[in-house]
Amino acid sequence: MILNSSSPLVFFTKTSEETLEIGKTISQLLKPKDVVCLTGDLGAGKTTLVKGIAKGLIEINPEEITSPTFTYLHIYSGPVPLYHFDLYRLPSCNDFLESGFHEFFYQEGICCVEWPDKLPPLLFQKIAVHIDYLSSNERKISIRKEYAI
Ligand code: ADP
Ligand code: MG
Repeated sequence: MILNSSSPLVFFTKTSEETLEIGKTISQLLKPKDVVCLTGDLGAGKTTLVKGIAKGLIEINPEEITSPTFTYLHIYSGPVPLYHFDLYRLPSCNDFLESGFHEFFYQEGICCVEWPDKLPPLLFQKIAVHIDYLSSNERKISIRKEYAI
């Protein structure tokens, strides 16, 4: 499986467990310093996918991963650390920069960012994951590499 910018990888899932498995699969394509930006409505399955990525990277129990809505950032330590951001409630991108959160993008870990539209424009490549809500249990997951603007 190859990630590139011209044609996205597309998966359809029918349960949250299947989305978790896709996360695990994606984790195998990631390397330190990668920034995964996850877009999609509330309830689309972004946190579920991050749980799968964490499971693949750290062999963590998915029960231990919750959306860091109130703290903006959760860190899961492992051979490759995972920095999981949820910026839904972040007032502005200035708050992000003032908190020094961008420093995590340059460390030897993998960043997963929910609600990345709160970020300033990225100067480096990212892995863009978009989840479409198709029905209560069906999701379309599209993954592509995007280069800096
Ligand atoms: P988000 O982080 O995008 O707001 P969550 O991952 O927190 O979304 O929640 C997704 C919700 O949708 C969970 O309650 C999950 O059980 C449910 N769900 C149902 N079907 C799926 C599916 N195919 N993939 C992901 N989540 C699903
Ligand atoms: Mg979430």
